[in-house]
This record gives sequence, structure tokens and C-alpha cells, in this order.
Amino acid sequence: MDQARRNVKREQFVKTKNLGTNLEDIDAAVSILRLGGLVAMPTETVYGLAADATNENAVLKIFKAKGRPAYNPLIIHVKNTRMAEEYTQWNDVAQTLAEKFWPGPLTIVLPSRINSKIAKTARASLPSIAVRMPNHPVALNILDQLDRPLAAPSANISGKISSTSADHVLKNLNKKIDAIIDGGNSSVGVESTIVTFQPQPTILRAGAITPKAISNEIGSKIHHYDKKGPIIAPGQSKSHYAPNAKLRLNAIDWKQGEKKLGFGNVNCDLNLSKDKSLTEAAQNLFNFLHLLDSSDPITISVSPIPNEGIGLAINDRLRRASLKE
Ligand code: AMP
Ligand code: MG
Repeated sequence: MDQARRNVKREQFVKTKNLGTNLEDIDAAVSILRLGGLVAMPTETVYGLAADATNENAVLKIFKAKGRPAYNPLIIHVKNTRMAEEYTQWNDVAQTLAEKFWPGPLTIVLPSRINSKIAKTARASLPSIAVRMPNHPVALNILDQLDRPLAAPSANISGKISSTSADHVLKNLNKKIDAIIDGGNSSVGVESTIVTFQPQPTILRAGAITPKAISNEIGSKIHHYDKKGPIIAPGQSKSHYAPNAKLRLNAIDWKQGEKKLGFGNVNCDLNLSKDKSLTEAAQNLFNFLHLLDSSDPITISVSPIPNEGIGLAINDRLRRASLKE
């Protein structure tokens, strides 16, 4: 077997290192990333599958490991606004939002700088770059030591349920990535809010930062991406976050044989939040979908979730999880 084929073979089955959050393990993760490897790391939203965003080959490995279509660009994680300015055409509105919400679950889409060193593969050849500064000590420590931006989509097989713990990542990506850092459960539990300003201020994806909070900061109305309108960013139309099971949403009664995912004062298999806390429901959402899912053809019925605050993001994920492609 020639060397090239041997390399391909080796890439198909890597031994995934289980790392903790001590200094030695973080050093090991940084070394892997510096050499172009893949590391799943905790962030406050969900676990991210990280690679050096300036290394085409490393970024390509993310797409391969996740089975992600090449047209779906990756969010670029930065250690501070200065790093974001290095790669994007940063502006006053971005600065205002970053001052208010970074580090935190807000991704800002901006035109790329000419000759930006972000791998073309990471932005799916688009003229824009999506940037975020995560609010997690492990992610920030890695970014700081590496001193390079990290491309990091959620650490799961493309289209499937996102990971909010190291166990979820292992279930999906064991032997496909170089390492995983176990940093406990993600505190927010759903992916970042994504905002763009082209052609007008628009929320591309709901998250913990609400449209109202953003429009208060920028002092103008913010549109919500219209599901029925044209697609203005990739990755918006399809089924996503999907368990094997069928989902029945807004269930006000339970049918026999269904698994029951409740909210509030209801009898059910797992309750997203007995106290009707949307923050708690978001933290539990992906974990409970992982727990209730099964390879058998079952249905998971879900209580109605109020469509306000982070409930907007929960309902967005549930709706997309209920679609079959
Ligand atoms: P995720 O699936 O969490 O990795 O989020 C990626 C999503 O962010 C994509 O599906 C796009 O909607 C958006 N996005 C990422 N990069 C860009 C970009 N360069 N331009 C526009 N949207 C982007
Ligand atoms: Mg994802």
C-alpha cells in the first residue's frame, strides 16, 4: 500500500483521545489543533468540533467527520474583537453588539476582508464570514493559546441532534476525531443566535440572545428570517437537529405508545422544565432528545413551548427536528 492510501486509511479510524480540562490536557488539545487535527470542545451553547480556521486541510476534515455538505459554512470562533477585525470588515454595529453580548451566544455575519486568511472551505466560498467569541473558559483558553481562529460547528453528525455533553459527542464522532475535551454540560444548550446586516438587519437563526435585545442595542428594527421567503444564508431550509424518532409537536394530550417530553405541570417521561423555565428547558432540550430517541420507529410527543425569549430558539429546533428531508 502506498503512503497516500495508508494516510487515508489512518484518517478513517483515528483513536479519539479523551481529555479533561486540566492544563496538560488543554496543552494537548492546542497541539493537536496546531498540527491540523480535530478537537471537540465545550462551549456555552453546544459542543463544537474545532479545527484551525486558517488551515484548509484541517477545515476539510470537519466536513468529512460530520458528513456536512460543502455549501454549509462554519462559524469562526475568535478570542476577542481584535481577532474578528483581522478577518472581517468589522463595523460600528458589530462593535456595539460585541461590546454588549461577547463573549456570548451571538454570531455576527460580516463581509470578509480581502485576502482574509480564513480557509475558503470554512466560508463555503462565500464573500462573508460568521464570527463569534464563545463564553466558555475552556474554549477561550484554547483560542488564547493557539492564537488562531477556530472553525467550530456543532459536534454531531450533520443534520442530527446537537451535543451538549462529551457523551453525546462520543456517541456520534468516536474514532472520527482526534480528541474530545469533557467540560461538563453546556450551560445554554442551544446554538448561538446568528445575525446579519445584509441586505438588512436580520436574525438568521434564533438563539439565547433575543431579537428584542439585539434591536434595543442597534436602535433599529430587526427582521426575522422568513421561512417562506428566499434563502439568504445556507443551511436554513432543511430538516436539522433530527432524532431517528418522529416528533409530534404542541401535544396537549398523550397517545399510547408515544414517548412524552413535557413542559410544565404534566405527567410525562421527561420534563424539560416542571417550573416552566425556558432557560432550563433549553439546557435540557438536546440531552432529553438524545435520551428519548431510539432506533425503533417511535414517536416523541412534545408539550407546547411558549414562543418567547429562548422559547423561540427551542421551537425553531423542535420544528426542524420534526421535519424529515
Ligand atoms: P452551525 O450549523 O451552527 O455550524 O451554523 C452555521 C450557520 O451559520 C450556517 O448554516 C449559516 O446559516 C451561518 N453562516 C456561517 N457562516 C456564514 C457565512 N460565511 N455567511 C453567511 N452565513 C453563515
Ligand atoms: Mg449544528
